[in-house]
Amino acid sequence: MLNFEFKNTTEILFGEGQSKLIAERLNSNDKILLLYGGGSIKKNGVYDDVVAALAGFEFVEFAGVEPNPTYETLSEALQVVKEQDINFILAVGGGSVIDGAKYIAAAAHYPGDGWDILVEGAEVTSALPIGAVLTLPATGSESNGNSVVTKKATQQKRAFGSPLVQPQFAVLDPTYTYSLPTRQVANGVVDAFVHVIEQYLTYPVNAPLQDRFAEGILSTLIEQGPQALSTPHDYAVRANIMWSATMALNGLIGKGVPQDWATHMIGHELTALYNLDHAQTLAIVLPALMFVKKEQKREKIMQLGRRVFALENADEEALIDATIKAVQDFFEQMGVKTRLSDYGLDSQAASEAAENLRRNDLHELGEHGDITPQVAQSILELAR
Ligand code: NAP
Ligand code: FE
Repeated sequence: MLNFEFKNTTEILFGEGQSKLIAERLNSNDKILLLYGGGSIKKNGVYDDVVAALAGFEFVEFAGVEPNPTYETLSEALQVVKEQDINFILAVGGGSVIDGAKYIAAAAHYPGDGWDILVEGAEVTSALPIGAVLTLPATGSESNGNSVVTKKATQQKRAFGSPLVQPQFAVLDPTYTYSLPTRQVANGVVDAFVHVIEQYLTYPVNAPLQDRFAEGILSTLIEQGPQALSTPHDYAVRANIMWSATMALNGLIGKGVPQDWATHMIGHELTALYNLDHAQTLAIVLPALMFVKKEQKREKIMQLGRRVFALENADEEALIDATIKAVQDFFEQMGVKTRLSDYGLDSQAASEAAENLRRNDLHELGEHGDITPQVAQSILELAR
């Protein structure tokens, strides 16, 4: 087990009706930005609940944060924050809205162009406080300090992280996810699954508790994910998926263990270039990455196969191949396609994504820092 420091500062308000608690978490003199996306919250009643919870508070709305939130749109919201003297951001939506809130919160206190935080690694020294009402279990953004923002003008999708932008509280009401389209339910399960894998499928460091936390989340997603598709209004299923997705990326399971994140970084380039859903890119990259990296990851791939997929192949090579296939089959079972060609992409996408990694100076990905843009290209070639 490696050394670590751990503190998760987000208060989770979990369960049906918990948005009622929001008011108690705010200060009476807060001037709030109510930030949301394309309007799903107006159709499913979440907006009404939040507005009811904000009775008596002064708030301004900003709608239209898009999936894979853009610097361009968030800059407009930032303008509103500055003009209206906003001092609290309440993000209501999925990972995109919450990530967007984090960027705005950091940029509001940054003296220059907020994009520097994403490309120059400019340090976040202060940020507006944030609260979140989650409507799509997937990213873990509601309980971490990470944010991913896309600049449309340059087709760059970049990430930053700071404890200062971690939401102070997050409402996790499973009933808010009933209205999700099937595609987004599936995307969320796949994203959470891959978050766990990125912190688990590396090399053993004698951290059996961390391994079992990870395996517990993976097994739960494999069990509950298909049920969310077949019985969409099952509260228990939605609740278990929601909690799994939060636990997948709230920091806990990644402590004391090596982390990979190459699947995410390569996937980000596919979204930046071709606007694929985040989870679609992960479903393409991960099985091929497992295959290309099977020697370095062999112990953990076999452990995943045995413990999570209950595979019993006696031959190690057969077990590894069966495990990779089981991961790919799970994504397909969730309805998320796993090949570039499924999305109308070919070799050109592999070379363009590799080129974008070079342009973004991402030369040393993975737990060993040995996934170069060239290796990433070969992974994507394999995923054709
Ligand atoms: P999302 O982009 O936030 O939302 C996808 C779609 O789902 C939107 O059209 C949204 O509509 C809709 N939606 C959300 N909740 C809904 C509901 N309850 N009912 C009906 N429709 C609903 O999806 P996401 O997967 O949560 O976030 C993806 C982003 O997060 C990507 O940019 C990804 O790179 C990033 N990410 C962040 C982290 C992190 O740690 N911060 C980790 C992984 C990925 P509306 O626009 O109308 O709301
Ligand atoms: Fe993700």
